[in-house]
Amino acid sequence: MKDLRQRQHWSLETPNFIHDFINKDCQSGRFQGKVVTRFPPEPNGYLHIGHAKSITLNFGTAAKYGGKCNLRFDDTNPAKEEDEYVQSILEDVRWLVEHDNFEVLYASDYFQVMYDHAVELIKLGKAYVDSCSSEEISQMRGAPTAPGLESPWRQRSVAENLELFQAMTEGKFEEGACVLRAKIDMSSPNINLRDPILYRIKKSSHHRTGEKWVVYPMYDWAHGWEDSVEGITHSLCTLEFENHRPLYDWFLDQFPQAHHPQQIEFNKLAITYTMLSKRNLLELVKTGYVDGWSDPRMPTLSGLRRRGYTPSSLRKFAEATGFSKTDGRVDLAMLEFFIREELNKKALRVMAVFDPIKVVLIDYPTAKTEFASVENNPEDQAAGIRQVPFSGELWIDGEDFSETPAKGWFRLAPGTEVRLKGGYFITCREVVKNPDGSIRELRCSYDPQSWGGESPDGRKVKGTIQWVSARHAVEIEARMYDKLFTIENLAAIPEDKHWKDYLNPESLVVKSGYAEPELSQATAGQTYQFLRKAYFVPDSKDFSSNRLVFNRTVTLKDNWNRQKELP
Ligand code: ATP
Ligand code: MG
Repeated sequence: MKDLRQRQHWSLETPNFIHDFINKDCQSGRFQGKVVTRFPPEPNGYLHIGHAKSITLNFGTAAKYGGKCNLRFDDTNPAKEEDEYVQSILEDVRWLVEHDNFEVLYASDYFQVMYDHAVELIKLGKAYVDSCSSEEISQMRGAPTAPGLESPWRQRSVAENLELFQAMTEGKFEEGACVLRAKIDMSSPNINLRDPILYRIKKSSHHRTGEKWVVYPMYDWAHGWEDSVEGITHSLCTLEFENHRPLYDWFLDQFPQAHHPQQIEFNKLAITYTMLSKRNLLELVKTGYVDGWSDPRMPTLSGLRRRGYTPSSLRKFAEATGFSKTDGRVDLAMLEFFIREELNKKALRVMAVFDPIKVVLIDYPTAKTEFASVENNPEDQAAGIRQVPFSGELWIDGEDFSETPAKGWFRLAPGTEVRLKGGYFITCREVVKNPDGSIRELRCSYDPQSWGGESPDGRKVKGTIQWVSARHAVEIEARMYDKLFTIENLAAIPEDKHWKDYLNPESLVVKSGYAEPELSQATAGQTYQFLRKAYFVPDSKDFSSNRLVFNRTVTLKDNWNRQKELP
């Protein structure tokens, strides 16, 4: 049989309160020292970066303790779930954990187990069929400070309840006609314990069980059984379930023979300028504001992947956000820090220019080509050097020339000298204009002694700029992605506003430019630093050899904070 213990190639090592808990359990021999966790997504949308935190915790914990972690689809709600989501979740989890050494399980496979236990609970006199409407039931639940009211159907006999539940199961009632409720305590200070609903009637088709079931279990009833059946030891969930833990325990306590996991709650991930709710993300997709769930501006794992984020950068980020008992919001800059740090080490440096300006070198032989040796990555000597074609007609970046330079301008300007990276020192002698006043070309002299960027006489040239040979350049399309929202805290939107009012109109700016011929050979997954610009990856959807489309993963520095500091 396949050994499903987590491989050790990465694990969650930073100490946290959950691991303190597990350490104690391992020492005391609870669960025979085993650690079994699970990641239980509901297949009603694509996974987002909040899920990455849970995946990192669950898979990383299993890896740390040599235990296992299941991927379990929490597919107990027939209406909202689709196979497209199941497939995307599978792909995203495998991508993020970088292996597929885990079991893929479905909560719907335990429908019978859950059902049988519900029948047992009726027989124990601890569950009843309530024929009140859902409005009546919620009215009678009371408030945190006021006890609830008992349903008039609460005293039905075991026999009657068994018969009615059977009839529900056979489809003899309409949706909403009745529900099965646990009989716990209508005056409990914890509202979750006020006779929670276990089953409701839903006459819709399920993506795996089809028409077989008419009654579907509620989350709280289902989840404990899913964990129990799988032998989960530590059921890790977010803080909003803390108040559900007494119910989780109550259900399993009614069946002393059943395996009873320990539920532990941790803080949910929230990030500035970022919306993390599948329901709202679905709305963004449906309204067509973004290019589907995998749009590189989306906080989904597929969007982040397309944007150029790597699995390890997301796991490191998730780990750094910390596991605690208090919800908070982390800065988006922190996410960018982790990918920038990784790309700085491994991205291939290349030259690309936008808003290009033509530079013509006076006296450079027209047909001549030289090859400049440029290092592939100054952070990694092993990455080697490459030969970049150089000629007498070049493109430079529009930002690297100023006709009226401010004080301290080290880039090109009329009469000034700059170093072309790996090439010559050039001096701008003439600005040739088009009839409309725009720049047609810069005529520059070059110092033949300065090839490779060496100063022939020790003179100082402060500015070094990137360039591409006009004859050899390839045209590229660069998608400059930025924050999808302009509001820092999406949870604090004024009442008269909607999150749609805060969509950033500049979240995508498309620029065309020129780059080294090298870029026509770009392959999926290869990351680039366009020198002095930003980090880019070929777009997994639109890149082809005759359309070189790149996505900006992240800027070289945190521009946003600099912008904010301006008056
Ligand atoms: P959403 O609120 O975005 O719809 P969800 O919690 O309904 O998310 P599930 O599919 O139920 O999505 O989540 C699967 C697992 O991921 C759960 O264990 C859940 O606690 C965890 N999870 C979801 N969002 C976050 C988050 N922001 N931070 C940490 N864990 C999360
Ligand atoms: Mg949910």
